[in-house]
Amino acid sequence: MNVPNIIIAIDGYSSTGKSTFAKLLARKLGFLYLDSGALYRGVTLFAQEDRLISKLNIVDPALKTELQGLRLRFGEDGRLFMGDRCIEKQIRTMEVSSQVSPIAAVPYVREWVDEQLHEYGRKGRIVMDGRDIGTAVFPNAQLKIFMTASEQVRAQRRYDELKAKGEEPLLEEVVRNLRERDYIDSHRETAPLRRADDAFELDNSEMGFSEELAWAQGVIQGKFGIL
Ligand code: C5P
Repeated sequence: MNVPNIIIAIDGYSSTGKSTFAKLLARKLGFLYLDSGALYRGVTLFAQEDRLISKLNIVDPALKTELQGLRLRFGEDGRLFMGDRCIEKQIRTMEVSSQVSPIAAVPYVREWVDEQLHEYGRKGRIVMDGRDIGTAVFPNAQLKIFMTASEQVRAQRRYDELKAKGEEPLLEEVVRNLRERDYIDSHRETAPLRRADDAFELDNSEMGFSEELAWAQGVIQGKFGIL
C-alpha cells in the first residue's frame, strides 16, 4: 500500500496486543514503530535503581533533576538502551510493571517522555503505541486506533508473555497488575487513557494477527482513498 507520510497513533488498555499489532502494521507499511510505554518503563527502572521511588510508590522529587542526565534510546532492532546498556529485558519484568503507572502519572515525567516522542514523530511515517498518543502526544495524528480486548484474554496474553521470558508469574497477580494499571492510567490528571473521539475502535479478543492487519488495511484504504 502506498500510504502518505502520516502518524498512526495506537492507544488502549494494558496487554491488548498494541505493540504486536503496531509492529506488524509498521512493517507492512514500511514505517518506523515506536513503543512509548518502553520509555515510561525505562524511567521506572532508572528511578528504581537510583532509589527514587519507594515500595509504597512515593516518587522522590529529585527525579525531576535526575531525568536531565538520563539517556534512553531505541537501537536499530527496537530494543531500549539506557546509555550503552540494553535494558529491554529488565523493563519487561513484573517489578517494573508494578511501579510504571505511578511513575507515568507524574506530570514532569510525561513532559520528558513527550519531548522524546515528538522528536521521533517529526518526520511522520511512524506507528506509535501507548495510552495518550492520539489524545495528547499527537492529537493531529491522521489515523487513530483504540484497542480493547476482554480482561481474560489480556491477562492470559500477559501471563504467557512473562512465562516465555522465564518469569514465574501468578495469574491472580497478573490480573491485579492489569486492573491497577488500567485504573491509574485512566484516572490520572495528566493525559489520562481514553479513546479519542476520532479513533477507530478495534476489539481483538477473538482475532488473529492476519485479521487485525486486514482490518487495518480496510480502515486505511477507506480513510485515505487508497486502492
Ligand atoms: O505499553 P506498556 O504496557 O508497556 O506501558 C507501560 C505503562 O506506561 C502503562 O501502564 C502506562 O502507565 C504508561 N504509559 C503511559 N502513556 C503512554 C504509554 C505508556 O502512561 N503513552
